[in-house]
Amino acid sequence: MSKQRALVTGGAGFLGSHLCDALLGEGYSVVVADNLLTGRKSNIEHLRNDSRFEFQDVDINQPFDCGPVDYVFHLACPASPVDYTVHGIETLQVGSIGTFHALDVARKYNAKYFISSTSECYGDPLEHPQKETYWGHVNPIGPRSVYDEAKRFGEAVTMAYHRYYKVDTRIVRIFNTYGPRMQLNDGRVVPNFMKQAFRGEELTVYGDGNQTRSFCYVSDEIDGFIRLSKSDEHFPVNIGNPAEFTILECAKMVLKVTGSKSQIRYEPLPQDDPKQRRPDITKARTLLGWEPKIDLETGLKMSLEYFRNAALEEKTTNA
Ligand code: UDP
Repeated sequence: MSKQRALVTGGAGFLGSHLCDALLGEGYSVVVADNLLTGRKSNIEHLRNDSRFEFQDVDINQPFDCGPVDYVFHLACPASPVDYTVHGIETLQVGSIGTFHALDVARKYNAKYFISSTSECYGDPLEHPQKETYWGHVNPIGPRSVYDEAKRFGEAVTMAYHRYYKVDTRIVRIFNTYGPRMQLNDGRVVPNFMKQAFRGEELTVYGDGNQTRSFCYVSDEIDGFIRLSKSDEHFPVNIGNPAEFTILECAKMVLKVTGSKSQIRYEPLPQDDPKQRRPDITKARTLLGWEPKIDLETGLKMSLEYFRNAALEEKTTNA
């Protein structure tokens, strides 16, 4: 067993908490720094009694130090359009100041470093599918810019620390990922549709539903993180499932797997909503031997129990 210690910023979030599970499985001890702005203690509740796990209520927008670490995984950031629009300033802060602080920790302890970036770096892409070499088509002043530009800046700071200070960095660009522990009310399409389907409410499709996304199940995404964390690649790597669906197809898939009789209701498309998104994963395939294994229908079925419980629990609580 390795005695390595990993820091996970945002470790109480959806992806952060799954990463903690994987790192403990890899033999790391894990310390989480999270201010619980959008993360939740319930995501890491099952790790509370593990002596190799520690939670620290820390705002990484202030200089911080959770003690010596061998690896810094920087995931802290509001990540759904609803969250980052409500918390726009915090999103810009954590992508910039928070990223400096996380990199300073890696530099101080000569630790390896991994940052979660996003397919939003490609904006409303004019190249399809998106390769890592594509520079993107982002509106720098639109409502989504707080997230897109924060993440693009985070990549720039990371590359600068690598170039100037020789920090051993990695950058993952995450495409739409779903699964258990997503917040039911974070506004993203899978939790929204699942919640609506289980409650017998109309599924809200924005626009005509012909915009596309490519959905990756959480265990596939985390497998990609772990493989990338062990590689020496410093430039960004796409980790996402290249199977592309229209949002209308996604709605129909949710109705199928839940057996719900809900209808579909069309609502206005949010500003700057990307029309299409699909990762080119050639780099991850060749460099990491990574390939997603779980298709959308299977992944939704694997998420059913979590979303059913969350949807019905909250309905009872609010009743
Ligand atoms: N969307 C939708 N209905 C919803 C929530 C989202 O039609 O209730 C659409 C949204 O407009 C976008 C896609 O689903 O085209 C994915 O949205 P999400 O917020 O999950 O992630 P994004 O990829 O936009 O960051």
